[in-house]
This record gives sequence, structure tokens and C-alpha cells, in this order.
Amino acid sequence: MATIRLVYYSHDSGEMTQSELKNILEQARTNNQKHDICGMLCYDNHYFLQILEGDAAEVTALFLTIAADKRHHSVVIIGVQETEKRIFPHWTMGYAGGSDALLSMMKELGCDKFDPTEMSFIEAATLLHQLSKSQTRL
Ligand code: FAD
Repeated sequence: MATIRLVYYSHDSGEMTQSELKNILEQARTNNQKHDICGMLCYDNHYFLQILEGDAAEVTALFLTIAADKRHHSVVIIGVQETEKRIFPHWTMGYAGGSDALLSMMKELGCDKFDPTEMSFIEAATLLHQLSKSQTRL
């Protein structure tokens, strides 16, 4: 079965607390390890941006579960790509948010705030890859 990389963004259903984010990450890290899925999640300015990498059927099934989660809404897939090599092999789910690194990367993209709605697939995947090197501890 093919390995794919899926990137989506969404809007929170209410400002997330650190402990709510921690709950999501704990669920994600436990489940993703079982299904050999890896990736990165970014949360800031009410937006989530996430990349999921793994077996095509596993990533699709997980994405459908995530998209139905009431903790966020307006879920939009930015892109899906078949790949031979994972770019997040070490992270069952890495996390970044509210960091100086994120703000300076957004400035490079010409934005004052984190806003993934206008990002291309390449911009989003590159941003998440850069953020994986300076993650927020949660
Ligand atoms: P159950 O635990 O049976 O929950 C069913 C539903 O209840 C969930 O879909 C959700 O709507 C709600 N729910 C569950 N826990 C809580 C809670 N603590 N507070 C409020 N509502 C809750 N899961 C992964 O496995 N991998 C990921 O990478 C991943 N990324 C996520 C990214 C985002 C932005 C969000 C919002 C969620 C993410 N999740 C992820 C969580 C995922 O949506 C499911 O909640 C999780 O996979 C458990 O699924 P389940 O069907 O076993 O749910």
C-alpha cells in the first residue's frame, strides 16, 4: 500500500487550553504509534495545521475521525501527496504553537499572524517541517 502525506487546516471550536491541547496530543501519540502514522500539529491564532504521514488507508481513516472531532470545524484539506520517504519519521505527533519561531516564519511568508488558509501545500509542509526542529513542549 502507498505511503501518503496529507495536510489540512481547521478552526478551533473555542480557544484551546494547554491541557486540552495536551489531551489531543496524548490521544494522537498513542493512536498514531499503533497505526504507524507520524506528523506534526501546529496550533495558533485559533487555527490548527496538521500533516499526517503513513499508509494511505490508515491516514484516510484517521483523517475522517479527526475531521468529525467537535473540538474543531471548517476542516479543509490543503493537499495529499504520495511519497516514498517520510519527512516526520521521528514524530508520532510533534507539536508547535505560539512560538517565536512560528511568528518569524509567518513574517517570511508576509503575514503578521499564523493563518494557514492561504498556504500552498508546499508552504504548509515546509513550515511544519521547519517547526519540527524547534518544537513546543506539550
Ligand atoms: P473517542 O475517544 O471515542 O472520542 C469520540 C469523540 O469525542 C472524538 O472524535 C471527539 O469529538 C470527542 N472527544 C474525545 N476526547 C475528547 C476530549 N478530551 N475533549 C473533548 N472532546 C473529546 N487523534 C489521533 O489519533 N491522531 C491524531 O493525529 C490526531 N490529531 C488531532 C488533531 C486535532 C486538531 C484534533 C481536534 C483531534 C485530533 N485527534 C487525533 C483526536 C481524534 O479526533 C480523536 O478524538 C481520537 O483519535 C480518538 O478517536 P476515537 O474515535 O477513539 O474517539
